[in-house]
Amino acid sequence: MIDLLLRNAVLPRSTAPVDLGVDGGVLVEAAGQEARETIDLGGRLVTPPLVEPHIHLDAVLTVGQPRPNVSGSLFEGIAVWAERVRDLTVGDVQARVRKVLRWQLANGVQSVRSHVDVCDPELTALRALVELREEVRGIVDLQLVAFPQQGILGFPDGRKLMEKACDLGADVVGGIPHYELTREDGVASVQFLMSLAADRGLLVDVHCDETDDDHSRFVEVMAAETIRRGMAGRVTASHTTAMHSYNAAYAYRLINNLARSGMHFVTNPLDNSVLQGRFDQGPVRRGHTRVKQLQEAGLTVCIGHDSVMDPWYPLGYGDPLQAAFVLAHFAHMSGADELPRLIDMITVEPARTLALPENRLRPGDPADLVVFDAPTDVDALRLVARRTLVMRGGRVLARSEPARTTVTWDGAEEEVTFLR
Ligand SMILES: [Zn+2]
Repeated sequence: MIDLLLRNAVLPRSTAPVDLGVDGGVLVEAAGQEARETIDLGGRLVTPPLVEPHIHLDAVLTVGQPRPNVSGSLFEGIAVWAERVRDLTVGDVQARVRKVLRWQLANGVQSVRSHVDVCDPELTALRALVELREEVRGIVDLQLVAFPQQGILGFPDGRKLMEKACDLGADVVGGIPHYELTREDGVASVQFLMSLAADRGLLVDVHCDETDDDHSRFVEVMAAETIRRGMAGRVTASHTTAMHSYNAAYAYRLINNLARSGMHFVTNPLDNSVLQGRFDQGPVRRGHTRVKQLQEAGLTVCIGHDSVMDPWYPLGYGDPLQAAFVLAHFAHMSGADELPRLIDMITVEPARTLALPENRLRPGDPADLVVFDAPTDVDALRLVARRTLVMRGGRVLARSEPARTTVTWDGAEEEVTFLR
C-alpha cells in the first residue's frame, strides 16, 4: 500500500495519460499499486516544479514608490529605485517578499534565485533575505545573489561590500560589468568576482551586457575566466542582450567559446521586451539574447521573470509561464519542437542553472510536481493555464480551482473550455 496515486497525468511532450505513485515523499512505480489516497488529475499536464532563475525580490511590489516611472525606461527606473532604496527596512523587504513568494508558489515555483542589491553599506536587503531563506526552507529553496546594482569598482567600497555579502551568506556572486565606469573596470570587475566565487566555492550569476550597445562584450571575459578556472556549470550570464546586436563573425567566434566554457544563460523576456530598443527610431530591435543559437550550440538557456511590479516593470504576478509565453513571440520560438522546449526553460533547465538535483518525474525522484489546468504542454503555454495543484514531497502546497466560463448563445447557456 503506497501513500498516494495520481491518476491520469499527462507528462511533457506526450498526450497519453499515465499514473504516478507517491510513497514516503518520493515517486514510485504506480502499476499494480494500491494507495491510501487517490487523486484523479483528469488528463492534465504534470511537470517537475517550476524554477525561477532570475528575480529581484528586494524590489518587488514597489511600483509607484515614491513616484511612478512615467517613461517606463531603464534609466528613469534606476532613478526612482535610488529614491525608494533610501527607506528600505528589513520589515519592509520581508513583508513584500513573503507576499510574492506565495504568488510564486501558487504558480508552481519551488526554487528561486534572487539578485539582492548590495550597494548599501548596511546590506539591509541582504540581511532581510538571509533571514527569509531560513523561514521558507522546505517550502521554497531560495538562492541569494550578491548583486552590485551600481557596480563593484564604481561604487565606494564596492569590493569590500561584495566580500561582506559573501560573509553574510550570499550563495552566488553577481556583477554588472557594463555599468562600471570604463571598459577596463568592467573587465576587472569580472576578474574580481570570478576570483571571489572560486575562493569561496560559490556560484556566479552576472548581469552581463544588458544594453543594446554592440561594443559591450563582457560575456567573452566571463567565458575566458570560466575556462581558465575550470568553473564549467557554475557560471551564469543573465540578460546578454547586446549579443543580439553583435556582428555575425564576432557572434560565431563568441558562441564557440561560450560552448567551450559550459556557462549557463538566463534571458528575461518580460523586462527586456520593454526596456531594450529605447534608443532605436526604427526598426526597433527586440533586445533579447541569441536564444536559439546558444541552444543549438548545446548551451542551457533558461527564462527569468526579473521583476514583479517594480520601477522597471509594472506588471507580472510571478508566473514563469507568462514569461515563456512572451519569449515564444520575441525569440520566434513558435516551432513544433520549440514550444515544449519553453516548458523545459522554466523547469529542468533553470534547475540545472541553479545546480539543483535533476527531477524528471521518474521513480526515485522527489514527489515535487506541478499540475496545470491544460491537457498538454502546448495548451498550458497557449492558455497560460493556472496551476491546479502544487506538490512538494507528496504534500499539497498550493491549489487553484479551475475557472469555469459559459456563453449564452441562442438563448442557451453553454460552457466554453478554450480547448479544441
Ligand atoms: Zn535582473
